Amino acid sequence: MIKEMFVDLLYPRRCPVCDEVMAQGTGLICGRHKELPYVKVPCCMRCGKEIENDYQEYCHDCFVHERHFIRGFPVFNYIEPIKSSILSVKYHNKREYCDFYSREMAKKLMPYMGLLKVDAIIPVPMYSHKKKARGFNQAEVLAKKLGNILGIAVYSDILTRGRETTPQKELDNLERANNIKNAISVNKIPDGMKNVMIVDDIYTTGATIEACAKRLISAGVEKVYFTTVCIGKGR
Ligand SMILES: [Zn+2]
Ligand SMILES: [Zn+2]
Repeated sequence: MIKEMFVDLLYPRRCPVCDEVMAQGTGLICGRHKELPYVKVPCCMRCGKEIENDYQEYCHDCFVHERHFIRGFPVFNYIEPIKSSILSVKYHNKREYCDFYSREMAKKLMPYMGLLKVDAIIPVPMYSHKKKARGFNQAEVLAKKLGNILGIAVYSDILTRGRETTPQKELDNLERANNIKNAISVNKIPDGMKNVMIVDDIYTTGATIEACAKRLISAGVEKVYFTTVCIGKGR
C-alpha cells in the first residue's frame, strides 16, 4: 500500500480515456466520461458490430465474407474518445490503460462465459520484429489481464505471425486478407483445448481475426470466439 502511494506520487495515474492525471483512490477512469461509445444493439450476430436495423442478422462484411469464428464481443465503437486512447496504448506505450480495457472486456463477456465454455484465451500475434521494437504486443497484454480476471489460461505462443509479404497499404481488401492469412501460422493445439477466445485491440475489416480463426479451426479447435476493445464501423 505504501509502495503504491509512493508510485502514485512519482507517476501519477492518468485516466485511460482522456489521459488527464487522476486523483488518488478514484476508479479506473476519471469522472468526466458519463457516456462512452459502447457497442449497442442491434448488432451483427457474427462480429458483434452495431447494425442499423434489427431485421438484419449480419452486417454487410459478415454477410459477404467467410467467417470461421462463431461470435465476436467488441466493447466500444472505434470513435473518440476511445480511438485516441487505444492508439496511445500502441504508440505511446500506455500499456497500463489495458487494466481498464481488459476489465471492460470481462464485463461484456461475463454473461456469456457459462454458455461459451472457453478453455483458452489467445491473443492475436504480432510480427516478432515489431514486438521487439515496441516492447510488447498490446493484444497479449489485454489477453493476460483478461485471463486473470476470468480465470482462464492464456496461450501466447499458439499463433505466430511472420512478416506480411507486401505492405498492407499497397493492397486491396481481398489481397490484404490473403496477405494476413499467409502471415499467420498455428502451432500444435494442446489436448482438450476446444473453445477459444481470440483477443485483439481493434477489429476493422475482420481479416486478421478471420485468419487466426481459420488457422485454429484447421488445427483442431472446435469453436472460436473473439473479443476486441473496439470495432470499426465497416459496412
Ligand atoms: Zn478521463
Ligand atoms: Zn458482422
